[in-house]
Amino acid sequence: MKKIIIAIDGYSSSGKSTMAKDLAREIGYHYIDSGAMYRAVTLYAMRHGMIGADGSVDIPALVAAMPQIAISFEKTMAGQHTMLNGEDVEQQIRTMEVSSHVSPVSAIKEVRAALVKMQQELGAGKGIVMDGRDIGTVVFPNAELKIFVDASAETRAQRRYKELLEKGTSVTYEQVLENVKGRDFIDSTRKVSPLRRATDAIALDNSQMTREQQLEWLLNIYQRVANA
Ligand code: C5P
Repeated sequence: MKKIIIAIDGYSSSGKSTMAKDLAREIGYHYIDSGAMYRAVTLYAMRHGMIGADGSVDIPALVAAMPQIAISFEKTMAGQHTMLNGEDVEQQIRTMEVSSHVSPVSAIKEVRAALVKMQQELGAGKGIVMDGRDIGTVVFPNAELKIFVDASAETRAQRRYKELLEKGTSVTYEQVLENVKGRDFIDSTRKVSPLRRATDAIALDNSQMTREQQLEWLLNIYQRVANA
């Protein structure tokens, strides 16, 4: 069976990372969460006073700081953790505060150029599943298997709300829905690499699917592509 690149793109909280992780584990591939990289850059910008009270980003300062931002992933007992300049920031990058600033940061051309380059290096050896917004269109336009995941904004917000409650975050469903819709809007209307379904991506609406059904669906497609 040949080693391939699997690109999973889609809207916020569409379950991309759950399916990407499940698939990678099942077939022995590396999983790379490209959203975590944008979140880590956002956390760095927040910590260094580059995000104003009105949410505006000090773009020149952040662009100048990009060479000082090192992002990596470490495998721990609890799963894969995102490291920012050697610090484990897995918990910090998942907060609502980071979620509310990440899309404007991700719209900055230079931030994208730096992270896309890192993502391409991480995937150079193939045998990876990467999830994000532009993996099948920009990062790996030649990926052998591309999936585009969607579900209604309400279904996605409900999932994310449940996850946040389980983590003990105090948040309302309306706040989560607003954040999901806001990110969808910025991500799909930005000038650089907007969220789009690649023309050769297979669409999946997983609103009515269980996690197990999703994995089975993915495994079938993967086997077909990798054996071709
Ligand atoms: O996947 P996740 O929701 O964690 O991504 C957080 C944000 O990072 C997205 O809303 C989007 O703004 C940005 N992102 C991106 N391109 C990617 C992955 C994530 O612009 N490949």
